[in-house]
Amino acid sequence: AVLRERYGGVSREIRDMGPYDTVVVGGGLAGTFAAVASARMGCRTALLQNRPVLGGNAGTEILVNPEGDTTREPLDPGEGGIIEEVRGDVFGYSERLLKLVQNQPRLDLFLNTHAKGVELAEPNKIKAVLALDVNSGQRYRFLGTTFIDCTGDGSIGVWAGAEYRHGREPRSMYGETRAPEVGDLNKGTMGGTLRYATEQTASPVKFVGPDWARHFPTCGDFNPGRHPQLRFGGWQWVIEYGGDLDTYKDAEVIRDELLRIIWGMWDHAKNHCPQLGDQADNFKLAWVSHVVGKRESRRLIGDYVMTEHDIANRTLFPDRVSYGGWGIDIHPPKGFYDPGPPAITTHRVKFSVPFRSLYSKDVDNLMMAGRCISVTHAALGATRVMITCGLQGQAVGTASGFCKLHQTTPRGVYQRYIQDLQQQLLKDGCYIIDLPNQDPRDLALGASVTASSVAPNDVYQPSAALTRHNLDVDRAVMFRWKGGRLESVAAHLESQAAGPAVLEAHLCRAKALGEFQNAEQVAAVKVTIPPGSRDWVSIPFELQLEPGYYYLWLPKTAGVSWGLFSVEPSETARAYRSGAEWTRMPGCYAFKTEPSGGQALPLAEERGDQPWFSPQNVVDGFARAVRGVPHSWRPDPAQDLPQWVELKFPSPVEFDTVHISFQSRQLAASDFSLSAWADGQWRSLTRVADNAQRRCVLTVPATRAERLRLTIEKAPPEMGVCEIRVYREEQP
Ligand SMILES: Cc1cc2nc3c(=O)[nH]c(=O)nc-3n(C[C@H](O)[C@H](O)[C@H](O)COP(=O)(O)OP(=O)(O)OC[C@H]3O[C@@H](n4cnc5c(N)ncnc54)[C@H](O)[C@@H]3O)c2cc1C
Repeated sequence: AVLRERYGGVSREIRDMGPYDTVVVGGGLAGTFAAVASARMGCRTALLQNRPVLGGNAGTEILVNPEGDTTREPLDPGEGGIIEEVRGDVFGYSERLLKLVQNQPRLDLFLNTHAKGVELAEPNKIKAVLALDVNSGQRYRFLGTTFIDCTGDGSIGVWAGAEYRHGREPRSMYGETRAPEVGDLNKGTMGGTLRYATEQTASPVKFVGPDWARHFPTCGDFNPGRHPQLRFGGWQWVIEYGGDLDTYKDAEVIRDELLRIIWGMWDHAKNHCPQLGDQADNFKLAWVSHVVGKRESRRLIGDYVMTEHDIANRTLFPDRVSYGGWGIDIHPPKGFYDPGPPAITTHRVKFSVPFRSLYSKDVDNLMMAGRCISVTHAALGATRVMITCGLQGQAVGTASGFCKLHQTTPRGVYQRYIQDLQQQLLKDGCYIIDLPNQDPRDLALGASVTASSVAPNDVYQPSAALTRHNLDVDRAVMFRWKGGRLESVAAHLESQAAGPAVLEAHLCRAKALGEFQNAEQVAAVKVTIPPGSRDWVSIPFELQLEPGYYYLWLPKTAGVSWGLFSVEPSETARAYRSGAEWTRMPGCYAFKTEPSGGQALPLAEERGDQPWFSPQNVVDGFARAVRGVPHSWRPDPAQDLPQWVELKFPSPVEFDTVHISFQSRQLAASDFSLSAWADGQWRSLTRVADNAQRRCVLTVPATRAERLRLTIEKAPPEMGVCEIRVYREEQP
């Protein structure tokens, strides 16, 4: 240090920064969204990121594509909130995040700034984060009131003395089916990955494997699913290593082994691979990342530890503040060197994340978002994808605004202001499962709504939006039967066959959930599907059955397809059979039993006479489709535009801000206008052209009016307006 000070111009002095209301550490999606949300809530905020770019695993150094909810309900717009401002191709995340951050007046960004410790004000309260500018060597002390750990490693919490876990809980701890029988809470995580890019060349390119590379002389040297491929794409996640080491402390060992594997794979592809033959000749290794993408390290313990059961049962926490829907996607710790499948994914459902899993139980002024939240190893399999992490970030950043406003801790927000936090998140475009807008400041909630026209019900059939699988192999769905008489099982089938399709449906009893092999056949029933139909097909079994797991399987049948539920209900499984082997897959074929067996199944019901697209839907509290119910006003597509929807307030209201949420980005109006009825005439407030957003927040001249009209001038025929909010924000 003395020499560095004398000759390197690096001072040992620690420069005080702040004080900040919020200090966020880690600039992945979770940290960046936390910092932006905090600044927008009026907090003076610092964001520390130890790399030269923002984005974490989605940044230009690592290039993992952010994913989130994949349950794809009909008309599902995807995640809302800050993510909608930056969603796009993976190569641009770092740049888009930087622009987003630079546009926040109260947010100071510190790139290349590595947090390396904390100072405590009291045993369970952080006073400051100590950090180092890795370029200049300048040391900093970031003083703050509330701290948010988005390092992915839980470093801030660990330094502050918070309880944490690193590894897999034993099954006995929470009874999770995805937990190993014997846990390994010091190691046993998912590993890290380095990505690489190849490039096609005009002429052959020679490659000599370096002697430090791993040696794979035969194709049999690769475990299943790990053989090199020439395309630059998703398969590279299988180059995974380090889950049986310490992904935090052994980071460099892990990076070096990954480099050895990649160079060894490339040597195999170029010089030893009979499968690729000469296909690899005209390819060169164009880029290899040197920054390891991490999947898992330490998890801080909050007031609640979310488990696999919360995902499987879709627990609707009263303090839910964000959601996900990736499926529990767990990789074996040995990664590339594991002889089994590279990953197993189950439980693909929309699930909620409680606020109590986003703050430390031990450190009073510490919240967390991203990989280091309070979840078990199994639950992390579902919460770890980046858009899901980003939503948590927005939730804690917003919560820090309530900490400042009410001079309280995160736990204080949970105890006293959780509804305010939830309502603020909804107002800012986030979705919270089954939680409606009840914002008392939203003037639209008391309005009655009319429209120039309404789309008839037959323009929308949620079942048409189901993903379908052709019966090009035998396919099966398994469910638990509580015992008693089973009248029938129905499957949602479509037939494109020229004539009636006849198939034999089988019911089998399985030994355990997911075990399709060696089952006992219980019954077989022939069914006929009329040509061109797309509907529930009831298969009458009429049997008295013991409690247990049963599956319905349908044989390979030309022209017939089976719809999949948009989510995977608990205690179900799906599989297909090629040859004699059944292979279990994530997801669930659409089925229902008669009697129902108590499963709440997620296919949107058909509506009968109730209108899908009533104008009143724009103030029904939901700003998006839910389980296939559109929650929108849609004008009659048979009538020409313009079409309008109008809010009539119980008495004149004063407002200056209008929020409009369309059905989705694709089903949004591009040109529209707002006008107000005041003093016996319509006055134009604003007009928008070339809109490409799902959600628009429009500032209008302060107005006192009895009615507000939204006129749609240009839009796709399926356009819908899900929500209109009206506020008096008292613009500066
Ligand atoms: C190969 C691979 C494939 C994956 N596939 C997908 C996928 O397809 N889609 C998906 O969404 N997710 C995927 N994941 C998971 C996902 O990338 C991570 O779980 C996710 O990045 C977690 O987000 P985060 O913001 O918590 O952490 P990160 O993205 O890791 O961000 C944390 C940031 O904090 C910085 N940081 C850490 N410590 C400090 C410190 N002391 N001081 C300052 N800064 C610090 C880090 O440098 C990093 O930039 C994959 C992961 C890997 C490795």
